[in-house]
Amino acid sequence: MSVDKAFRDMIRNEIDAQLKPLRDVVSRLEAGTADLDALRNVAERLAPLAEVVGPLFGANAPAAKAGRRGPGRPPARAAVSAPPAAGGKRRGRKPAASGTEGSRACAIIGCGKPSRTKGYCAAHYQKLRMLEKTNRRPSAWRDYAEPDSVEDIKLPRGRAASKALAAAAQAGNAG
Ligand SMILES: [Zn+2]
Repeated sequence: MSVDKAFRDMIRNEIDAQLKPLRDVVSRLEAGTADLDALRNVAERLAPLAEVVGPLFGANAPAAKAGRRGPGRPPARAAVSAPPAAGGKRRGRKPAASGTEGSRACAIIGCGKPSRTKGYCAAHYQKLRMLEKTNRRPSAWRDYAEPDSVEDIKLPRGRAASKALAAAAQAGNAG
């Protein structure tokens, strides 16, 4: 008998302890909804904290209002999940465009690789861009030149390369 009562007291104390946070919210609610709105406003104004603080008032309040439910999940709110962005970002090069590119050979004589950009294979287009940037693009290296029709050029190396670059830069500044 007394054991039974002690046991029940223990359980009740335990439940009381468990429910204390919820009852605090409920008593605050009973103080008036204006108070809750004020709390919510504060939470919303503190935007960075709102995610943390908001649910404390926003999420628990409806559950407490709706007939003092015990602890547990609040009633399902509107589904949060947004549909994932379709596809996502595409990375990397597009596959070779249909048409002439890819189906014909590089413009540089003796290269033999398929052309990729403006009639040149990847390597020779790189070279073309570099020559253009350094003001040394030969007139023969036209865009969309005929396949196997453009003489490759041998770039100077070492000190000669620096000289050539400087001369080209000088010419570029002058012109
Ligand atoms: Zn090539």
